[in-house]
Amino acid sequence: MSNLDLRPAPNRCGGNGRTGPVRDVQPGKQVPLGESTLVRRLLPNLGRRMVGAWCFIDHYGPDDITDEPGMQVPPHPHMGLQTVSWLHAGEVLHRDSLGSLQTVRPRELGLMTSGRAIAHSEESPRSHPAMLHGAQLWVALPGEHRNAAPAFEHHTELPVITGGGGLCATVILGELAGAASPGTTYSPLVGADLTLTDGTDTRLPVDPDFEYAALTISGESEIDGVRLAPGSLLYLGSGRTELPLRARTDSGLMLLGGEPFEERLVMWWNFVGRSHDDIAQAREDWTAGTRFGEVHGYDGAPLPAPELPPLPLKPRGRER
Ligand code: MN
Repeated sequence: MSNLDLRPAPNRCGGNGRTGPVRDVQPGKQVPLGESTLVRRLLPNLGRRMVGAWCFIDHYGPDDITDEPGMQVPPHPHMGLQTVSWLHAGEVLHRDSLGSLQTVRPRELGLMTSGRAIAHSEESPRSHPAMLHGAQLWVALPGEHRNAAPAFEHHTELPVITGGGGLCATVILGELAGAASPGTTYSPLVGADLTLTDGTDTRLPVDPDFEYAALTISGESEIDGVRLAPGSLLYLGSGRTELPLRARTDSGLMLLGGEPFEERLVMWWNFVGRSHDDIAQAREDWTAGTRFGEVHGYDGAPLPAPELPPLPLKPRGRER
């Protein structure tokens, strides 16, 4: 997925310490993605740029795309991050400049590491299931790995943890309660998909050194006593050893966390950098058709980069 804003605000990220437990509901905003998809952008939001190394969260659907093209995101570049594709319904066809061509289906991990440079496109296949529902997330690469070799991984077997009274947790990326995803990570973090059956009342063990946030995918649940509807992010802070979870209906959540990301970052369009010059160079290279490589097979032109804002971009911390 791409940030398709024509004039994206400069979202800058980076360091300070742990907060202790909090329950801070942070509203997302509805953002158009291409011509036919509306997404709920939960991170960055008005209060926060990052949760651990997670620096971007879009939740979309469930949408009935029976008579529509569905997701159509033309080739675009990334730098300094990993993208995570996670579906509850539908299919997304991923193409990238390494030559990857992969259909990602529900409950499979599509994990792309941009390192210094990659380009990709994402589309609903021409013949696709009726419903499309999922999330697209970005993880910032720490400085020592930001020039890692670009890679695409597709994992269909992910560890599942079951807990008291109807909790089922799939570890998408990183580690949760001793279970680790096979996806490559570059900093201590977790991304998990939680399914709770009606009446679930349980506690999920979590890492006190991680900060966490949760979002509701479907149904009605309470996270540490907070009822959360789709469209908002619940920031939970750090310092917890367990997280109380209750469900009033069958419901779905995502839990994201990690060690607070201490580096200050510049996040603009589809790039995570350390300075204005990093970003300006990446933009110039994409516009010149160098560095990021070519995506083959997508029916349409690559996305042009937006104009840089008039003032230099500054590296910023993880909170606003
Ligand atoms: Mn993308």
